[in-house]
Amino acid sequence: MLNLHSHTEYCDGRAPMVEMAEAAYGIGFRTWGFSPHSPICCPSGANMKAEDVDAYIKEASILKEKYAGRMRILTGMEIDYLSEDFGPHTEYFRELPLDYRIGSVHFVRTQNGRPVDVDGPAERFLKYLVSEYDCDLRYVVETYFAEELEMLDKGGFDIIGHLDKIGDNGSHAQADLEDQAWYARLVEDVIAKAVEKDVIIEINTKKFESANRFFPALRWWPLLKKYGAKLILSTDAHYPDKVAAGYAAALDLLRSNGMASQLTVRYESV
Ligand SMILES: [Zn+2]
Ligand SMILES: [Zn+2]
Repeated sequence: MLNLHSHTEYCDGRAPMVEMAEAAYGIGFRTWGFSPHSPICCPSGANMKAEDVDAYIKEASILKEKYAGRMRILTGMEIDYLSEDFGPHTEYFRELPLDYRIGSVHFVRTQNGRPVDVDGPAERFLKYLVSEYDCDLRYVVETYFAEELEMLDKGGFDIIGHLDKIGDNGSHAQADLEDQAWYARLVEDVIAKAVEKDVIIEINTKKFESANRFFPALRWWPLLKKYGAKLILSTDAHYPDKVAAGYAAALDLLRSNGMASQLTVRYESV
């Protein structure tokens, strides 16, 4: 078993690295990657602090030794894309000594260009929709996917995180959002671009137990198959008891849909 998307107390995860690694090893993972939310240039409680990056990388290297021969530990980061001036492509992130990088969009710029966190609880998103985006859900959704396309064009990362995450909070504002043809086109544009750029698409299982949803949602899996996307399973765990949440269910579905062969072997333990 392999998972490269996890969080610890370095950002908004709820346990030290060693506790996450122990839980992962105990449940059967043989490759485990840490991916703290990157430092960011605007205030954010969810992101790690730039001054903690060295300590994070050092702690990961200690765990690599501790688990040597038993579980492969990889040092990653989930890097926020904010704009052409800040993202996985910028020099700071390119120069960090990381084993891999996840590129994710959590912040969508407002009509005035200010980045606002559209991830997190639906209630907060609905408030921001009114206070920050002039109630324009379509603007938010289109800008979210436009930022993902920009991020893919600029590069600097290996895996695109939860590529349709906006569909979850967005559906709380408009229940049939994902049924819209324009929405489906945007999802397909991002999948096609990721394949074109040889970026791995994660199947993120974080909300499977609580909301019966994967990212990308099951309805888009035929597109992942049609485009032959390279895939990786990610639990995006923030708690030790969630290290494998949704993993087996997603793997079963990949197998029954004839997609298991699309899972990348790039990070398999050696
Ligand atoms: Zn994320
Ligand atoms: Zn994450």
